[in-house]
Amino acid sequence: MKAKPILWIIIPCYNEQEVLPMTGPQFLDKIHELTELRLISENSRILFVDDGSSDNTWSIITELSRQNTAFRGIRQSRNRGHQNAVLAGLMEAKDHCDITISIDCDGQDDMNAMNEMVAAYHDGCEIVYGVRSNRDTDTFLKRSTAELYYKILHALGSEAVYNHADYRLISNEVLRHLSDYREVNIFLRGMVPLVGFKSTSVYYKRKEREAGKSHYTLSRMTALAADGITSTTVKPIRIISTMGLIVSIFGVISIIWAIIRHVTGNTVDGWASLVCIISLLGGIQLLSLGVIGEYIGKTYLETKQRPRYIISEKTWEPKTRKLLEEEKTNQTESADS
Ligand code: UDP
Ligand code: MG
Repeated sequence: MKAKPILWIIIPCYNEQEVLPMTGPQFLDKIHELTELRLISENSRILFVDDGSSDNTWSIITELSRQNTAFRGIRQSRNRGHQNAVLAGLMEAKDHCDITISIDCDGQDDMNAMNEMVAAYHDGCEIVYGVRSNRDTDTFLKRSTAELYYKILHALGSEAVYNHADYRLISNEVLRHLSDYREVNIFLRGMVPLVGFKSTSVYYKRKEREAGKSHYTLSRMTALAADGITSTTVKPIRIISTMGLIVSIFGVISIIWAIIRHVTGNTVDGWASLVCIISLLGGIQLLSLGVIGEYIGKTYLETKQRPRYIISEKTWEPKTRKLLEEEKTNQTESADS
């Protein structure tokens, strides 16, 4: 068994004032339980990442951290989305801990799976995926589209684990290598398996949200799904090339066929077949342009190398901030006088 590792639980929060007062203390209980079981160090922490919330989420986080030093919080300068928030938390934790577990703040992911995750780490695993064993809480549409999506992802060569969201344990070693993946277009589910190292899965039952409502609208989900493909593979472009080749071969065959028909004097009107072919080709061409455009757009964003997250505040550094602000006001006052 390894020495007791320092665990940091990374929790992204966006407008979660309803649920945070309920789940916050539950995370603390979990840390206490794991410490008593001698699975983790007493210096373990809970790190909330406020993803630019516009409600009272940040004041709840600062209040929690005032009550207990196990709670910490960082605040993004604006809303950047779930994946960036998790990444910001992981990168912040990287230099302070031995293992991290990322988990949503709404109580949907069963915290009890953490015991098994940490146990798997003690058995030598560097990555432990939390995999949901049920999808009862999802609608039929969400369930079937998710299943189809994972099948497509796998067919395209991604190693993302089926039914795993972003509830996972990552060791410090893996985190250090993950920080070398500098892409702006982030899909952690696809990136983490690429780092390698020994991994395993633990299964849990996903529950209903304890309060508040989901932030994943259909358009956000579609964007994440597109990012998932474009950030992991360029196979769609290859599929387009193959499709182009097949259509061209058909084109050559139909030219030969048309010439033969013409020479033998058998030419027919052919309006319907022409319309069908033109529409089909038009559709394929536009779709292909769209897919290629998607990659060009992503390449454009990558070349700009903009920061993936900007942290504007940390609960353990409010004094520094206050001092700086005071210093600034003093300076302007003396300049005025
Ligand atoms: N979240 C975030 N930034 C966002 C949207 C969501 O940090 O822009 C957080 C949110 O607070 C929650 C987690 O990501 O902890 C998952 O979001 P949600 O529960 O809304 O998604 P669902 O579980 O419905 O897929
Ligand atoms: Mg949720």
